[in-house]
Amino acid sequence: MPRPYTKTLIPRPRSRFLKVRCPDCGNEQIIFSHSSIVVRCLVCGRNMAIPTGGRSEILGHIVRELE
Ligand SMILES: [Zn+2]
Repeated sequence: MPRPYTKTLIPRPRSRFLKVRCPDCGNEQIIFSHSSIVVRCLVCGRNMAIPTGGRSEILGHIVRELE
C-alpha cells in the first residue's frame, strides 16, 4: 500500500519555489522547482515549466528563488 499523501511538506535539498515571469504576458507566479506536472501561466496558458523526471525545466524567466 502506498503511503497516503500528508499535508506535512518536508522540503528536500535543492528543491525550491521559484518566482517565474511569463515571457509572453509578463505574469509572475510561483512554481515549484520539482513539479511533476506541466505548469501553465495562469493568465495566458503558456507552458511555464515542464517535468523532466527531476528538476523542472523552467521555460520562463526566473525572477528569484524562494527558500
Ligand atoms: Zn502568460
